[in-house]
Amino acid sequence: MTRNSAVAGLDDLPVRDELRGKSPYGAPQLDVPVRLNTNENPYPLPEPLVERIAERVREAARDLNRYPDRDAVELRTELAAYLTRTGKYPLGIENVWAANGSNEVIQQLLQTFGGPGRTAIGFEPSYSMHSLIARGTGTGWISGPRNDDFTLDVPAAERAIAEHRPDVVFITTPNNPTGNAVPAEAVLALYEAAQAAKAATAGAIVVVDEAYIEFSHGDSLLPLLAGRPHLVVSRTMSKAFGAAGLRLGYLAADPAVVDAVQLVRLPYHLSAVTQATALAALEHTDTLLKYVEQLKSERDRLVTELRAIGYDVTPSDANFVQFGRFEDAHAAWQRILDHGVLVRDNGVPGWLRVSAGTPEENDAFLDAVRELKKEPQA
Ligand SMILES: *Cc1c(COP(=O)(O)O)cnc(C)c1O
Repeated sequence: MTRNSAVAGLDDLPVRDELRGKSPYGAPQLDVPVRLNTNENPYPLPEPLVERIAERVREAARDLNRYPDRDAVELRTELAAYLTRTGKYPLGIENVWAANGSNEVIQQLLQTFGGPGRTAIGFEPSYSMHSLIARGTGTGWISGPRNDDFTLDVPAAERAIAEHRPDVVFITTPNNPTGNAVPAEAVLALYEAAQAAKAATAGAIVVVDEAYIEFSHGDSLLPLLAGRPHLVVSRTMSKAFGAAGLRLGYLAADPAVVDAVQLVRLPYHLSAVTQATALAALEHTDTLLKYVEQLKSERDRLVTELRAIGYDVTPSDANFVQFGRFEDAHAAWQRILDHGVLVRDNGVPGWLRVSAGTPEENDAFLDAVRELKKEPQA
């Protein structure tokens, strides 16, 4: 056995030009008592659900010598039933597609509708993975505008769409990291603008990322799918279902969109274990949605208390709250960490983001930021 004489760095590899000098997605995973930085659900799955998962996975294990159901028929049927029940819009299996997290759903959408020579737009600050997945799929990225209060600047967004004629438009509602929801009229205006800009070709795909919709004061935009074959709503079990570790995301759209992503999905991408686990979780939807109610009231408490302490807060329809304003947000992030609480610095100048945790975790966070106000240079 010979060892390499020199340790190779990334620069020594024939990495694609657009990846050179870039950093991977990296929310810090630090070992601190209170972690409120990645919008996870703080509640572990209830014990009866854990039992049910074990049961269903045991059944699935008996067939692991075979490839899984490539079309995830049972899972997509149950997801469609969940969306129909909660989204006030009837959907069938032909409208639903599932993958390993909504990140994979987004990747499949960009592989299908983006790619080299094409572009996607998002209105930033927004979910950083949209631009990262665009980069990974060779899709050009356009950073669209937002108002100073982080609401969508619809006229400016329409102008950006008309100018750049993107193939894919991302609208995150409720938006991450800012927390605010986008009104249906704004989504409709951008949908029209995107189709008009690409009228010479087959139009554009508009992806509404509803990762946090279960936490919203308002309704899902699923009913907008009616008569809009280029609209896609993406969802995840990572947040409301408390199953970030499961890796299950899904989309709802016109059946043609579901057919189109089949062209790029890897065969058997969704393991039998994943499908069995997700099906078990869906059996317990009602229990899981009760935790969502608790988190919503904790979220609202965070907003009220942060304002009472004297912070600015962006109105939130998600399971997290953006608060500020700080002269130096990163320094404030570090000082909150010194109090044993990990929040998120998303790089939005002056602002930090805290995920709603358990009441005890939120108390610890509120104590920390109360202290911060009393300290000099807060
Ligand atoms: C957390 C999050 C997701 C979820 O991604 P998964 O891959 O399903 O875990 C998707 N979109 C946004 C905006 C998010 O914040």
